[in-house]
Amino acid sequence: MNSITQDLKRFISGDVINTPEVLTEVSQDFGGIFQKRPQVVVRPQSVNDIVQTIKYAHQKGLVISSRAAGHSLSGQPLNQDGIVLDMKGLNQITEIQKDHLWFKADAGASWGQIVNACIPNGLVPPVLTNYFDVSVGGTHSAGGIGAASFARGSQADNCLGVEVVTAEGEIVWCTPEENSELFYHVLCGYGEFGIITKLQHKLSIFPAFTRTYLLFYDDIDALLHDKRVLVTEQRVDHLVSFPIPCLQGVSRVTGTLQPLIQWFYTLRITVEANSCDTIDDEEILSGLNFYRRIHTEDLSFERFIEPMIQVDNVPSIAHPWMDVFLPESIAKNYIETTLNKLPSFLDISKTQMGCFCLVNRNNKMPLFRLPDEELIIGFGIYPSILKSQLPPILAELEKLSNISLEMGGKRYLTGWVEFNTQQWQLQFGDYWSKVHEIKKKYDPKGILNSGFFQNEEVTPSNSHYEYVAR
Ligand SMILES: Cc1cc2nc3c(=O)[nH]c(=O)nc-3n(C[C@H](O)[C@H](O)[C@H](O)COP(=O)(O)OP(=O)(O)OC[C@H]3O[C@@H](n4cnc5c(N)ncnc54)[C@H](O)[C@@H]3O)c2cc1C
Repeated sequence: MNSITQDLKRFISGDVINTPEVLTEVSQDFGGIFQKRPQVVVRPQSVNDIVQTIKYAHQKGLVISSRAAGHSLSGQPLNQDGIVLDMKGLNQITEIQKDHLWFKADAGASWGQIVNACIPNGLVPPVLTNYFDVSVGGTHSAGGIGAASFARGSQADNCLGVEVVTAEGEIVWCTPEENSELFYHVLCGYGEFGIITKLQHKLSIFPAFTRTYLLFYDDIDALLHDKRVLVTEQRVDHLVSFPIPCLQGVSRVTGTLQPLIQWFYTLRITVEANSCDTIDDEEILSGLNFYRRIHTEDLSFERFIEPMIQVDNVPSIAHPWMDVFLPESIAKNYIETTLNKLPSFLDISKTQMGCFCLVNRNNKMPLFRLPDEELIIGFGIYPSILKSQLPPILAELEKLSNISLEMGGKRYLTGWVEFNTQQWQLQFGDYWSKVHEIKKKYDPKGILNSGFFQNEEVTPSNSHYEYVAR
């Protein structure tokens, strides 16, 4: 047993573990791209355990990383040679307020737990991600977006208060009014500015029914036009679209046979209502330019929100997922450029993709960076590939990431992110110096997380790459 483990065991009531199995388990995240190995994992049983661990890390100069469900894609909760705080055990839902429409829960609670507890009360969080096995602390540290975000913002935008343990080991309650600077930086702060221990979050009364329309497009201009209409006129409550490749034949122009791919798009829109009889299809679909209405589906609200995606975390597979936020004015150009390039380096028949919308005025979070225009088109590529395929695929994805930043887009930082200083500056713009200022103010010794927002130079001695040491 190393001395850190021995020391911590003396004053931590939860588990302090340094077995090879547990250290290996927390050495990766869902992304499977990066690897870091801490010296010890602390599973706090109380907020006081977190305070004590932070004070110890502070005193010893050790880096401490918060980790919940480990579903990040770029090693955000990983830690080299320090302490991992495994937040999953702190997962109680402490209060559901029907009259005031909010819940309070520990940061390690999953969204599945929250939904299961709220639904019998006729309540639901305003924004849900498309996957529930992630923690409330984890998504508030990133943003947390879903098909309703264009109208309701991110999950962080719907947060009413957070209890935070600071890098000095103090427990602070933060709201938009009280300790507001810390509130606005632990949210979407990836554990860099404080550890979130509890959250207070809005709830909505949910309607009985939903009607979903699947609309098919053969033209991206028509799709983008219709998204603008639906979002600005607030005709629907949920909106998401998917590019669909269709092999049309082959071209022989270059001497070798090249597949000819035509991209189509499906738009999935949903309206909520207390009775299906009150939904007027004509009003919702009027003036839209889809090629064909493929399907219409009425579901109870509870059925509608059930997540549709299922994921396997196979050790040999990596998930270099990438979401970009595009100003509406460049969305067509960027999406077409990307869709043309993808088949040259990814098996597009097996690669999930998705498009969503956001509206700038709903974003209150300074660390959740959006382009300057009002309507934002989100575009995500979600490859699942063999780890051995990572180097060439990451090189191509980096080109697409750079194009998005140079065109005025921003990245959603949950995905695969490997920025140098210049790329961080493009991401944060004028706010980049403020990020450093806030980090210095709230974590002067740099003990919280391992500098995700910094330009960490990667050398063989501190390499966290599993696939290659650059
Ligand atoms: C299958 C899948 C589907 C997804 N779908 C969506 C989606 O629809 N919408 C969306 O927005 N995102 C989505 N994501 C991304 C996911 O929501 C984020 O990666 C989220 O941060 C993961 O939460 P987690 O509990 O796994 O946190 P972890 O991966 O354990 O940690 C993520 C980050 O949060 C920090 N953190 C965790 N807990 C705390 C805490 N208590 N205090 C301070 N910092 C903390 C960590 O240090 C780390 O930086 C998806 C990811 C996967 C794998």
